[in-house]
Formats: sequence, C-alpha cells, structure tokens
Amino acid sequence: MATNKRTEVEIAPLEFTPIDQIPRKVATLRESFSQRKTRPIEFRKVVLRKLYWAVEDNKERIAEALSRDLGKHAYEAFMAEIYWMTGDILHIVNNMDKWLKDEAASDIPFMWKSVNPKIRKDPMGTVLIIGPSNYPFQLTMLPLFGAIAAGNTVAIKPSEITPNSSRIIQEIIESTLDPSCYAVVQGGAEETQALLAEKWDKIFFTGSAAVGRIVAKAAAVHLTPVVLELGGLNPAIVTRNANPRLVARRLLWAKSMNAGQTCTAHNYILIEKSILPAVLEEFKKAYKDFYPNGSRDSPDYGRIVTDKAFQRLKGMLDNSQGKIIFGGTLNEKERYIEQTLVQVDSLEDSMIVNEAFGPICAVYPVNDVDEAIQIANKVHDTPLGISVFGSSSDHEKVLEGTRSGNVSLNDAQPHVNTLAFGGVGESGMGQYRGRASVDVFLHHRPYTKTPSWAESLLDLRYPPYTPTKFKWLRLGLGVGTPDFDRDGRKSPWTWLRLLFGGSPKLAASKAMAVAIVLFLVQKYLQRLAKQ
Ligand code: NAD
Repeated sequence: MATNKRTEVEIAPLEFTPIDQIPRKVATLRESFSQRKTRPIEFRKVVLRKLYWAVEDNKERIAEALSRDLGKHAYEAFMAEIYWMTGDILHIVNNMDKWLKDEAASDIPFMWKSVNPKIRKDPMGTVLIIGPSNYPFQLTMLPLFGAIAAGNTVAIKPSEITPNSSRIIQEIIESTLDPSCYAVVQGGAEETQALLAEKWDKIFFTGSAAVGRIVAKAAAVHLTPVVLELGGLNPAIVTRNANPRLVARRLLWAKSMNAGQTCTAHNYILIEKSILPAVLEEFKKAYKDFYPNGSRDSPDYGRIVTDKAFQRLKGMLDNSQGKIIFGGTLNEKERYIEQTLVQVDSLEDSMIVNEAFGPICAVYPVNDVDEAIQIANKVHDTPLGISVFGSSSDHEKVLEGTRSGNVSLNDAQPHVNTLAFGGVGESGMGQYRGRASVDVFLHHRPYTKTPSWAESLLDLRYPPYTPTKFKWLRLGLGVGTPDFDRDGRKSPWTWLRLLFGGSPKLAASKAMAVAIVLFLVQKYLQRLAKQ
C-alpha cells in the first residue's frame, strides 16, 4: 500500500508564464484547431492513452507533490486524484467511439423523418480550463480529458497556490503532448486575466464564486460559453430517523478528507435536537476510530493549503458566538486545524454565513425536517451539495423542498466519479465527469439530409400559398392534436378524437358506429365458422 514516506522526488520550482507569451500560445492553439490537427478520433485516443501512461508513470511524483502542497496522505492521493484520473481516461477511451458517433435525432414528428435529422458531435474549438487548488490534479485534468476527447485544442491554467502539483501537471503535459495543440500556462490572477482577455470557444472554470464572476464577465465580452464549477454553503440535514453512527462516520470523513477542503463537503449541519447527543457521542467514537492518537499526529490527515486560508478559517472560529462541542485545536505553524464542530444559535454566525472549505463546521439544532428545509433555503438556496440523513420520506421532503447541484442521501458528498456533476444557481453552471466531461466540450450540431424524392412533400412550403396547401399545412408540419381542453385539463375523449376527429360527441358517435359494425362482423364470422 502507498505510504506517506517522503521520497527523494525532485520537483522543480513553479515558474509563471511570461504574460507577453500568452497571446502567441493561444494563437498557436487556434491555428492547430483550424488545421484540424485534433479532429481525427484516433489522434485524440492516442493523446489520451499517452496521458494515461504519463499519469501512471508519475504517480509517485503526483503523490509527493500533493503531500508537499496539502499534506495529503498518499492513500488520498490515489483515492481522490490518481485513480480518478486513470479511471476517467480509461472510461473515456473505452466509450468515446460510441459517444462521438452521429446520433439519430430523437422525438422527431413522423413527417420530418424523411429528411433524416441527426446530431453531429463537433468540438467547440480552442478552450481554456482554469483549475483550483484543493484537488489540483483531478479538477484540472478531468476537464482536460473531456476536452481532448471532444477534439478541442486546449490551454490549461493550474492553480498557483499548489505549486508542486501544478509543476507536475506541466511536466506531464509538456513531456507527452503536442504543444501546438495542448498548452499549459502557469500563473496567478494576472496571468489568468491575460488568458481571459483572449477569445475562447469555451471556458471551464473551477474555483470560488468571486473569481467565477470575473471569469463570466470576461467571457461575456466574446460571448464565450462558460462552465463554472463553484462552491457554496452546503447543508447536511440530519433527522431523528437517521442512524447516529453512520451520520457521525460519514460526516466526519467528509470533513477529514483533504482536511475538509472539498467543495461538496457540508458547511453546516442542521440536526434535529433529539438526535444531537447521540450523534455527538458517535462523532467522538468515530474520531477515535479514524485517528487513535488524534488527527494532528496522524499521517492520514492533511493540512490547510496556505497561511491565508488558515487565517480565514481561524477568523471564522474566532468571530463565532457559538460553542465548540468537538475539536478546536489549531497549530498555525503546521497549518493544522482539527476537525471542529461549533454549535451556533444564530443564522448570522460567522460559521454559517461563510464557506468554510476546511475541517470546521457549524451545528444548528432544529425541531424537525421542515424547519431544516426552511433554514437551508434561507442560508443559500442553491448550494453545490446537500446531504440528508433520515428516512425515505425525509429524503423526499428535502429533494422536493430544496435546490442544489447534487444530493447525497444517507451519505456525505457525492463521489461517483462517472456521474454528471455540477452546480446550479450560485454554485455554478454546466456539468462534467464521465460522459458529461466530453459532452460539455462538444457542440451538438443538428443536421438534415433531404432526399430528392421528398420534393413532392416539400411542395407544401413553396409559393403559391393556395387554400389547398393551407388545408394540409398543419399535418405537413407534423403538428399533433391536443389531448387537453381550454382549461388545461386532459380530455378522456382525446383518443377518440385522435382516431375519428371532430368534437368529442361526434368522435364518440363515430366510435360507437365502428364498434357496432365490428360486433356485427364478428357475429357474422362466428356464424360462418359454425356452418
Ligand atoms: P480560487 O477561485 O481562488 O482560484 C481558482 C483559480 O482562479 C486559480 O487557478 C487561480 O489562479 C485563479 N484566480 C484566482 N484569483 C483570480 C483573479 N482575481 N482573477 C483571475 N483568476 C484568478 O479557488 P481555490 O481557492 O483554488 O478553490 C477554492 C474554491 O473553489 C472554493 O470556493 C470551492 O468551493 C471551489 N471549488 C469548487 C469545485 C467544484 O467542483 N464546484 C471544486 C473545487 C473547488
């Protein structure tokens, strides 16, 4: 098994890309796209296969970079970064023929089938991917794999605050791929804004809502479509019907992995008062199980990514009026923050109104699931994720009463790596992962092919616009018959009207007449059979 033993791995320091080189890099990518270099599907597959081996061959270096940047244990590096990348590449390579094939358009009225409507899967063009710091590899590379499979030329801008990881990403890409098709730009806000000043065919951004707004504004100048994978104030709702042990273990895990620096981890827990003592007891037991000597002395527990992020989390704790009911130990030098629960009695508390993005969490007791739903909607009505622990009817109530990018029922944070994932409202727009990673970088381009024999059908659209043509127009355009009345109610006579036309009464009379004729014919046939 992987360990967290520091190896002799050497990682070169991160160098920012000179800003004056950025326009040239982008122009090269555009030129390669217009030369159709990335169009052949076999080309894309070879690129992905090479990337697979580059990730595989660099796995120890990746784990080491993550250990240096985030104090991540190698186990977590494999669980949530390396195997996500290799698994994703294999999933894409094995399915891309199927996903990229032209598709027959669905739900087309019969009349239009003659023009053979299909959907073609075109690349968007030259796209930009901007990565975050918390899972610096997978959150930058997974979109890249999708963009490659979709046939785009791509620039990626990894996070500058995880310099070792970003350096390895650059090495992997530059040592493996054609630089005229795939480029890495390193840097912070300034370099990113220089990139954003360029025209892109799609921008895929993962990070904070504040920077997401900067990205969306810059994209609007060029009418560039954007995917924004942002954060949010995610609630975990725990009802009296939940299993306290499972609640404790699963919620503690979500706040422990990557020291809680996970966009889908819960920001606050809304818990029914009656179950709080039992969950807290189980939380203590779970902590002891996971970290027998405490998380600070455990190699399994990571650190906060920067001093700035540490101070922000400390500020949230310092400014809270709540009571620490679990944890609370911090070590500034190590950027260590223990998993901490703070019971608060105000929705204005610093622990509720800020995105923690770390191992600290507010606990707010409620009377029932309805109150929890009401509060969750008040705090943030479109978070990235919601966790619900309780009965099936509690789950249904929360699903029905809230909005969010994703939902975990009886678990913390969604983690099926091929399930489409993304925010809604303030937590973002657009989805990726699995097939969605490829789709998000494709233009689904409809096309039709009109046969010459269809000319007589098409006559309906040509002048002169005669009364006879007008009579056939509705049918010719494939407009159906409504199965509802003017009050929006479904009509029980609709099928009769569809079959026989006319008013419901007339249709019913015609149906009756047909039924009588059928009955008589049947009787006649029976009599013949007997003779
Ligand atoms: P961040 O927004 O600070 O940085 C993300 C990227 O934006 C980096 O590449 C950075 O260089 C660039 N950037 C920073 N400031 C900029 C500026 N002023 N102008 C232009 N570019 C700028 O985010 P982070 O700290 O790396 O990640 C934390 C945030 O990301 C949290 O809010 C978290 O919830 C969110 N997040 C969301 C997801 C998701 O999938 N929805 C995943 C991870 C993180």
